[in-house]
Amino acid sequence: MKKETPYVVFGTGNRHKGIEATQIVAPSGVILVTLADVPNAIDVVEDGDSFAENARKKAIQQALHLNEWVLAEDSGLCVDYLDGAPGIYSARYAGAEDRSDSRNNAKLVADLEGVPLEKRGAKYVCHMVLSDPRGNVVFETEEECRGRVLFEESGSNGFGYDPLFEVVEYHETFGDLAPILKSVISHRARATRKLARALCALVAEKKLPTKLVDVED
Ligand code: IMP
Repeated sequence: MKKETPYVVFGTGNRHKGIEATQIVAPSGVILVTLADVPNAIDVVEDGDSFAENARKKAIQQALHLNEWVLAEDSGLCVDYLDGAPGIYSARYAGAEDRSDSRNNAKLVADLEGVPLEKRGAKYVCHMVLSDPRGNVVFETEEECRGRVLFEESGSNGFGYDPLFEVVEYHETFGDLAPILKSVISHRARATRKLARALCALVAEKKLPTKLVDVED
């Protein structure tokens, strides 16, 4: 069966982020259309000085270009001992060319060599922005998830720095922990839950566009 369903465009090319956020907003009845399904999207340059600047830029520029509601987020890992690095450079920590999670993780392990466990505190940060088609920011939040960076990788769930990032309360990394738990306690989960509440209000006010999508009977 097909049903008219409210949607916003999620301005990310990161498949993992798309999956994580889609599951959390599902109860609001809104679907997230990722850039993989938007052929005329632009590549917004992330040259801001903060997560907030980058997220706003990605949401507003894409929204104005597509004339659509666009959700964007900028996220990363901030390590206390490294004065907040890699921060906004998390995706390209080991170099902008041939970006890879394994090279980033290897660099992080090397940069923290000899640093004792009690000084390896870190936090994931997620700044999320929803822009309307005219470039007005309608929703914005920044959320965190604290943990610490282990000496070696453990587990294969998640992505990015997850195999190194230990959630202290659970004594396990996001690489080890079940994805369902990450979808409750992560920086992106916290931001997306707040977003879901904002989306519910927008649906009630019939502000969002709809598209015909297949739904289960
Ligand atoms: P962005 O796509 O420019 O926002 O870059 C985000 C980068 O931060 C990713 O490529 C990862 O390196 C890191 N990152 C952000 N969120 C997570 C997460 O939930 N798990 C692991 N790494 C993350």
